[in-house]
Amino acid sequence: MLDVAIVGGGPVGLALAGLLAQQGAEVQVLEARAAPDPRPRASHVHGAVLEGLRPLGCTEALLSRGRPSDGARLVQDGRLITEVRTRDLPVRIPYSLALPQPELEEALEAAATAAGARVRRGVRVVGVSPPSVTLEAGPPLDARFIVGCDGAESVVREAMGTRLRGITRDGLSLADVRVASTLSAAELHTQASGLAIRLPLRDGERWVAECPPEALTATFARLVPDAPTPDEVLWASPFRVHARWAPVWRRGPVLLAGDAAHLHSPVGGHGMNTGLLDAMDLAWKLSMVLQGRADDHLLDSYARTRRRAARWSVAGAWAATVGLRMRPAPLRWLRGAVASRVPQGWAAAWAIGWDVRAPAIERARGGASRAGSRALDVRLGAGWMLDEVRGLTLLGDGDGPAWLARRPLPDGHPFGDARSVLLRPDGFVAYRGPAAGAADAVDRVLGGLA
Ligand SMILES: Cc1cc2nc3c(=O)[nH]c(=O)nc-3n(C[C@H](O)[C@H](O)[C@H](O)COP(=O)(O)OP(=O)(O)OC[C@H]3O[C@@H](n4cnc5c(N)ncnc54)[C@H](O)[C@@H]3O)c2cc1C
Repeated sequence: MLDVAIVGGGPVGLALAGLLAQQGAEVQVLEARAAPDPRPRASHVHGAVLEGLRPLGCTEALLSRGRPSDGARLVQDGRLITEVRTRDLPVRIPYSLALPQPELEEALEAAATAAGARVRRGVRVVGVSPPSVTLEAGPPLDARFIVGCDGAESVVREAMGTRLRGITRDGLSLADVRVASTLSAAELHTQASGLAIRLPLRDGERWVAECPPEALTATFARLVPDAPTPDEVLWASPFRVHARWAPVWRRGPVLLAGDAAHLHSPVGGHGMNTGLLDAMDLAWKLSMVLQGRADDHLLDSYARTRRRAARWSVAGAWAATVGLRMRPAPLRWLRGAVASRVPQGWAAAWAIGWDVRAPAIERARGGASRAGSRALDVRLGAGWMLDEVRGLTLLGDGDGPAWLARRPLPDGHPFGDARSVLLRPDGFVAYRGPAAGAADAVDRVLGGLA
């Protein structure tokens, strides 16, 4: 019997496969498509996500292939209302990386395969009845855990007897255009007559507006007079704006992650990025359970915490979309007033996938990483603190099981006066405080309480 069968080899399934295989799990990815999906789709990978992908060893290569995008500017009726800059955040990758989704998937697939996962293409799953996964062709497969990373039309979700809740609206289109671009951040142009969004891509720009795809360039010429004229439209597509999430993420050994569990509005680019954060959380929890170091309550904490995080990010993206599309004059005035008052640190953190409160608060506290958020990384000689963290790691003093990884608290650490810090394998701070509290903290983490 396999340890984990992952249904769907999109970015979330591939990232999960790599992270699990690295921890010694026997993993198969079952992907219906015979060849990778060539459509660019998600255009940006958030800095927080790239940091979380470091254990797979592909982050530096991705950084060298993409183009940084530094926050966003809101321009209303031709006037700059607010500018959110991510580059001042005290994190290791303070930007979003423009990179076509197929290139990310290619890197994740290579990393997953190198770690020992088997990616089977042209294999369609038609049913799930634990421990069996039924394939359209060939014998069924048995696995201890089955994870549905099979996107919006998930068969795994259907087999779990749950559906996405929420709302969907039509009316937006996007186009990737080849253009000589000097854009360094997203630009959101709102007017009484409509919305137009420009995003920097590695090889041009992505344009989004409220019109059919064939009318995009004319709409941009009307709403953004200083937009450059594109040499070529490389890809255009209408898309639906969703705010949907699954109420149930786990039934026994069957779990959901990524678009199978939540669908976002594209504003802010949180859809794929939230799914990748699901994969990072699930990977270490499932590994601990498979290794017999935690019982499977830890998986309930995955379902609980990621469902809550996904609902917040779905709601945030929806609110931003609705806010940007408001047309009556009083509502436009309100939008300008609210947008110019949103704290910079929050907006910047949201734009690159960090917990909105974390960096601003941590900076205010003199850079002290707090429990519950991702640790701020610090340099250790030629390397970085979080590069040393692979399993559950205790920095400093304190008791814990024999298998716990241990390291001294490094010079210049971001944990204030703590003597003992417990870091989860995904770089989140589970505990910081006196050494006497470390053993309890390990128990709470493994019990799914921290
Ligand atoms: C036009 C468009 C534009 C987008 N723009 C953005 C954007 O700007 N920013 C952003 O963040 N996101 C964007 N997205 C969304 C983004 O592409 C998704 O959030 C992301 O792909 C989700 O990854 P995933 O791995 O969860 O699911 P998917 O990428 O959907 O992967 C699911 C995989 O499962 C496979 N599969 C499905 N059913 C089965 C089955 N029964 N058996 C076996 N395999 C199966 C599919 O073939 C697919 O490869 C866009 C999507 C589209 C379509």
